[in-house]
Amino acid sequence: MRLGILGGGQLGRMLALAAYPLNVRCTVLEPTAGASAAQVCAQVAGEFDDFRALYELAKDADAVTFEFENVPVESARWLAERLPVYPPPRALEVSQERLAEKQFFASLGIPTPPFAAVDSEADFRAAVERIGLPAVLKTRRFGYDGKGQAVLRSEADAEAAWAKLGGRPLILEGFVPFDRELSIIAVRARDGQIATYPLVENVHIDGILHRSIAPAPDLGEELGERAAEFAARVLTELDYVGVLTIEWFQDGPRLLANEMAPRVHNSGHWTIEGALTSQFENHVRAVCGLPLGSTAAVGHSVMYNFIGDVPDAARVLALPEAKLHLYGKSSRPGRKVGHVTLRAGSAEELRAKLPEWDAAFARV
Ligand code: AMP
Repeated sequence: MRLGILGGGQLGRMLALAAYPLNVRCTVLEPTAGASAAQVCAQVAGEFDDFRALYELAKDADAVTFEFENVPVESARWLAERLPVYPPPRALEVSQERLAEKQFFASLGIPTPPFAAVDSEADFRAAVERIGLPAVLKTRRFGYDGKGQAVLRSEADAEAAWAKLGGRPLILEGFVPFDRELSIIAVRARDGQIATYPLVENVHIDGILHRSIAPAPDLGEELGERAAEFAARVLTELDYVGVLTIEWFQDGPRLLANEMAPRVHNSGHWTIEGALTSQFENHVRAVCGLPLGSTAAVGHSVMYNFIGDVPDAARVLALPEAKLHLYGKSSRPGRKVGHVTLRAGSAEELRAKLPEWDAAFARV
């Protein structure tokens, strides 16, 4: 089979690597020559709204998927008229717009932080009044890794946030004093079969994922089951095929949906070594119409991102548990350039090793 992938970053690279043993050959559509994924599979060089490039990608492909969610919906729909495109373009549409996304969760009975649409200064004042402070003001589109948002703790913050972000379509959310952030990775096959990975605990620094622990420690069964049930609702409603990620705030016993990504996700990188089937392999299986593999965790894993610069490989590999992934990207502040996953046999063993690993991979 031949699979076309819109986007040529590290997620595309890891998809192509997972596809290889299944004899699924990938081609990425990506503007930048020699991008991370294009180092390990074929590339069509072009923009995501260039219909000649889209045609080039589609003409030899059996199915098309994407590895980032800001693919133009029109491009996904144009492709979907010609060949199977998974996940469905509607999933892109919902996840590209924070207000539509929150309304979508609410329509399925999935709890979210309180939110209000902000289209004018009057809306903004009314929303602050209704939701109260602290709150978070966010752009509705093209926000990622904490960009395009401001936390409002005081009236002065509110003025500053409006001066910075006002004039664009916005959403105001109540600030959740969460205990921790969690995510769930779920996958749905073409025949409707659904599988979910265990909930993951995530720590962000400056809005960028720093560390994930899987399965999330000290969880209890109930939260995990609830997150899986919520994810299944989303997958079923969208008639979804492929991997989907939902990010959550845990506030005591409450689980509040923050956002979803219609793709493989950074908080699922641990599955390459820490699960029987990785998120990348299961995404490829799903979109190619193959049966899903087991999502069971193998031991307990922790993953650290490398941001900006790659570490000294010899130093990382000196840790016997370290599995190093470098993305073939040049150094740049704020850029995800690699990650490392380390696995322990039990939750206790992971807890015991965590201080040493946290120190070794502290973000600089
Ligand atoms: P986002 O781009 O929506 O994922 O937000 C980036 C980060 O900002 C999240 O991972 C949280 O740490 C924080 N954040 C976003 N929204 C809220 C909220 N409503 N309450 C508290 N923290 C938030």
